Order: sequence, then C-alpha cells, then structure tokens
Amino acid sequence: MNEGQTKADNKNDEWDWMFACCPKCRTTLVQAENGLNGFIRCQQCGVHVHIVLKNSTVFMERKR
Ligand SMILES: [Zn+2]
Repeated sequence: MNEGQTKADNKNDEWDWMFACCPKCRTTLVQAENGLNGFIRCQQCGVHVHIVLKNSTVFMERKR
C-alpha cells in the first residue's frame, strides 16, 4: 500500500534516524531514533541483540 510513497513525502527528515545491523548476518534489525534501548531478535539468523541508540552512537551486544 505504500508503493506510492516517496522520500519527498517523508515529513520526518529532521529526525536523526539510525540503523542497527545484525552483528552476525548484517541484516538491518531496526531503524530508530536516539534513545532506543532494548533487545531485538534478528529475523534472518535468530540472534538476540541488545541495542542502545544514544548520542548518535549505536551500541550493540549479542545476548548470551
Ligand atoms: Zn542476523
């Protein structure tokens, strides 16, 4: 349903989007803004990753 949506329609340009990629298979796990802190499971390889987005820095740690 979103095929007609273009970047020009994106009203969140001023947002500081950050991407977090899986440390194992490099799949993009999440696109989020500063302040995210939580666990995400990679849909590709099943790895659990602790992700923190803070001060425009991506912190990632594989859950043991
Ligand atoms: Zn993965």
